[in-house]
Amino acid sequence: MLLFCPTCGNLLLVEESANCLRFSCGTCPYISNISRVVKSRNYPKLKEVDAVMGGSAAWENVDSTDAVCPACNHGRAYFMQMQTRSADEPMTTFYKCCNALCAHNWRD
Ligand SMILES: [Zn+2]
Ligand SMILES: [Zn+2]
Repeated sequence: MLLFCPTCGNLLLVEESANCLRFSCGTCPYISNISRVVKSRNYPKLKEVDAVMGGSAAWENVDSTDAVCPACNHGRAYFMQMQTRSADEPMTTFYKCCNALCAHNWRD
């Protein structure tokens, strides 16, 4: 990207200051800040809970408990607890019906 100084017409230099890049002119005091080009870090989003519940791998090696399935009234369900909101809120318990023909998912 070539830019020319609007004041004197000379080629602007790109220099890096403490927290941003800026164009500066070598022959006059013209300086133009460039908006930050440093990309903000992308933090992985919490997996969508429903996607977690739908993925069968998530339910491997989990314990089962006495819970009545709301879909088929089966008396056992796999369960796992997950922090879905902020850390100071209680864990959410997810269930998956032990009846393989049903495999209904629900949450507390
Ligand atoms: Zn200039
Ligand atoms: Zn069920």
